[in-house]
Amino acid sequence: ATWLGVMGGGQLGRMFVHAAQAMGYKVAVLEPVADSPAAHAADHHLVARYDDAAALQELAAQCVAVTTEFENVPAASLALLAQRATVAPSAANVSVAQDRMVEKKFFIDCAERSGVLPAPHLLIAADQDIAINADLIAATLLPGIVKTVRLGYDGKGQVRVRTLEDVSSAFAGMQGVPCVLEKMLPLAYEVSVLAARGADGTSVVYPIAENVHRDGILFTTTVPGPHVSPECALRAHDAALAIIEQLGYVGVLCIEFFILDDGSLVVNEMAPRPHNSGHYTIDACMTSQFAQQVRAMAGLALGDVRQHSPAVMLNLLGDLWFDTASGACTEPAWDRVLALPGATLHLYGKDDPRPSRKMGHVTFVASTLAEAQDSLHAACAILRIAL
Ligand code: ATP
Ligand code: MG
Ligand code: MG
Repeated sequence: ATWLGVMGGGQLGRMFVHAAQAMGYKVAVLEPVADSPAAHAADHHLVARYDDAAALQELAAQCVAVTTEFENVPAASLALLAQRATVAPSAANVSVAQDRMVEKKFFIDCAERSGVLPAPHLLIAADQDIAINADLIAATLLPGIVKTVRLGYDGKGQVRVRTLEDVSSAFAGMQGVPCVLEKMLPLAYEVSVLAARGADGTSVVYPIAENVHRDGILFTTTVPGPHVSPECALRAHDAALAIIEQLGYVGVLCIEFFILDDGSLVVNEMAPRPHNSGHYTIDACMTSQFAQQVRAMAGLALGDVRQHSPAVMLNLLGDLWFDTASGACTEPAWDRVLALPGATLHLYGKDDPRPSRKMGHVTFVASTLAEAQDSLHAACAILRIAL
């Protein structure tokens, strides 16, 4: 058998494992936690830290190609793996996406080609950065958001600020780690673009997805996006293509954009892997984002990105397991959700639901977007999710 490897044992790894196995591969997962969604599905589980040299050697010896599902694996580990196996995306590409300042600088360097810029921002690495730039901050960056430069996700490591004092206390609250202050922009809506590039340099771009976040966490993804004009879709498509080519990337890459009230497009961040907003591709596209990752890393031709059905994806967070009044923990009524037209349920095999934890998602496809949205609304009524 031919083996593929994945760094990280979360749900993205699990869905990658399923796609790779469906194509005839065996999959090894390197993940420090013994009990993880991907490890249960994998053919081999290396229980080790992401920087464990012996485990990395073993993974690279066993697998022809290795990818990552977790964007914070040490870039040095990917570089080590690359001595013996194909690694996609590369350590260099992953490290750009791990650091918001490096990422924004890359977006600025790429702007001439991509046509998009990141939000106005400033590095805050020390208290002096606030004092020295007080006038600039007050004039151009407030109200804003303080984000940790590294390791944030689902809105964690972010504080909204209105005044200079807020900036100081937000920075103080981050335990001295470097932060970036970003101007708060008037978002009309948010979109993400999934792109993939093969080892042969061929690039493909999936249809633009419109995302709604709640409390910093992705709530729904709708494709085609009800607010996405053809011009906007074209600009986002072209920007994604320019970015993935400039990176010389191999694999699946997701790029998040803001559409402002005036219609302009701003690039927010990128994820060097399949992405939550791309889960709709499993049920609605010719090639899922996970099958595409397999193709890219294995040096195969990329698959068709065409969408065959309009789709809406709803994230299923741990909150759904808890009764708000009694706090009792019960399994939601999946049988009723699955009875809705066009529903496909994906649960990640996590057996300890916690509030805000991503437990699964459900995708509704139909021949029209309106029908898919009808099923979404019915599911929200069943699951008692306010719309
Ligand atoms: P993810 O889970 O997507 O990786 P994250 O923690 O890295 O999230 P961001 O994507 O940067 O954080 O921000 C989370 C959300 O906060 C965005 O999707 C958007 O809704 C809002 N947001 C972030 N930056 C800005 C901004 N500059 N102006 C307005 N809203 C913003
Ligand atoms: Mg992020
Ligand atoms: Mg984001």
